[in-house]
Amino acid sequence: MINVTKTFLPPQNEYQAILKEAWDAGWMTNRGVLVKELEARLKDYLEVQDIIAMTNGTLPLQIAIKALGLQGEIITTPFSYVATTSSIVWEGCTPVFVDIHSEYLTIDETKIEAAITAETSAILATHVFGNPCDVEAIEQIAKKHHLKVIYDAAHCFGVRYKGQSVFNYGDVSTCSFHATKLFHTGEGGALFCKPELRDEMYYHHNLGHDGPDVFRSLGINAKMSELQSAMGLAVLPYVDTIVQQRREAVDYYKTLVDALPLKTIELREHTQWNYSYYPVIFKNEIKLLQVKMALEQVDIYPRRYFYPSLNQLPYVKDGNCPISETVASSIMCLPLWAGITKSDIKTICKIIKTSI
Ligand SMILES: *Cc1c(COP(=O)(O)O)cnc(C)c1O
Repeated sequence: MINVTKTFLPPQNEYQAILKEAWDAGWMTNRGVLVKELEARLKDYLEVQDIIAMTNGTLPLQIAIKALGLQGEIITTPFSYVATTSSIVWEGCTPVFVDIHSEYLTIDETKIEAAITAETSAILATHVFGNPCDVEAIEQIAKKHHLKVIYDAAHCFGVRYKGQSVFNYGDVSTCSFHATKLFHTGEGGALFCKPELRDEMYYHHNLGHDGPDVFRSLGINAKMSELQSAMGLAVLPYVDTIVQQRREAVDYYKTLVDALPLKTIELREHTQWNYSYYPVIFKNEIKLLQVKMALEQVDIYPRRYFYPSLNQLPYVKDGNCPISETVASSIMCLPLWAGITKSDIKTICKIIKTSI
């Protein structure tokens, strides 16, 4: 069986050696040695201003919305994973969808201003598939209209834009360390922000605790455990190799996909990408379903990332996003992980060719 991705597992003895530190300390969560070490290593590796490790990649979005005090409408992208929209609704705000670029698949910054009303408090956009939004244009719009900016950068581990980590843009950026993501801690995630926002974010992720008996603000529990941190510390030394192997796989896919009637995404200029996904866009949904069925018949399971277009979720007011709806109905991610073989890629592309 070939799935859309395969979790990278570090040698088990290396994971266990790191875990031993937590055993020796007799400490499983609440800022043990391992979570501190992971944060320090990641800060260094990613070159970010600040990081708070969390228990998944969804809670940092919700915490950012809550801790920034956002209310009313939040302008967002319809082309992302459901967590981007659900976090807005969960926090009692209203998502206002702005359509996407047909090539980059990120929010179309030229359409943002028309969607701003007196109720708008922020922009929450996704660097989808690790492809950065037009962060400069969005920053300008946000400044002009006094809006906060949050980036769902769940796919962006290691992505750099104009020479620095893409996590450094916006008021807050978030990442997911879910087992299906490029760098993972089983379940996990992180929040990145400017140093002046750190305390607010930190208290909100730890139930508002400021010491054992003092509560500074409303909070929730989003702490990363020592078990998760140990996995992160065991995976991190392999990340460069993981990216390199994914790059080789993507390069090979390209040589075969070029001959097929498929489109791929265009990366924004000045981006150092991480090869996190290999999405292909079909002429239409019928073609996509034909190919998907043919692949599934031989136990190959690509995924429809991202479908449906989020403006069509049952719990939001449907916006008019024709580009996102068209892309969402005709895009699929092909299997990709560090170590996928050329022969697997060849098989996948051969089946696409004969069933398209
Ligand atoms: C994976 C993902 C998330 C959520 O991350 P979890 O760690 O699964 O909670 C949020 N946004 C996007 C775009 C994602 O792909």
